[in-house]
Amino acid sequence: MGWLLFAVFSCMMSHDFLYEKYPVNQKVQVFVIGDPHKKASWTVTPTVRICGATEVSTFRVAIALKYWEKLGYRFSDIATDPSPVCMDAKYGEILVTLPEAGFGGGQIASTKIYTHIKNNDIVKAKIFIMPRHAKKERVLEHEIGHALGWSHYNQKFHMMHPNWLLGGYASKGLRK
Ligand SMILES: [Zn+2]
Repeated sequence: MGWLLFAVFSCMMSHDFLYEKYPVNQKVQVFVIGDPHKKASWTVTPTVRICGATEVSTFRVAIALKYWEKLGYRFSDIATDPSPVCMDAKYGEILVTLPEAGFGGGQIASTKIYTHIKNNDIVKAKIFIMPRHAKKERVLEHEIGHALGWSHYNQKFHMMHPNWLLGGYASKGLRK
């Protein structure tokens, strides 16, 4: 398959302690110049495999994918993998799995994308998430956004906002 590179999107989205420390309005950035940035793209239609240990249901993932499908993205199947050894994403796959060692304490999720070194196509992605965070509103949608190549975007109420509290369902600039 040739060489792969990977990029990690660390989401500092939910930080309950930050919320207590700083009033929310100090963190709001109302005016953002430019559009959201996409680091890389898929050229194949990705499948999604969910590791059972994440306790994420196929139904929940289907809802998250629907958000992106409305914006023109396509996915093939969603499958759950009950195997305790559910770690490595295969080619063409977005894997939803538990966090690896070294996962930051304040993080609620992160996503790693693997791109082909020659053409920058995304060939696989891994979403790291804990069961309790996967149940939070918008978290899966946001991480799938990273798996599709999107970076953070600091517009209030935007899906790719890095702070979960300030994010929302806005999809400006995310259309395929
Ligand atoms: Zn993020």
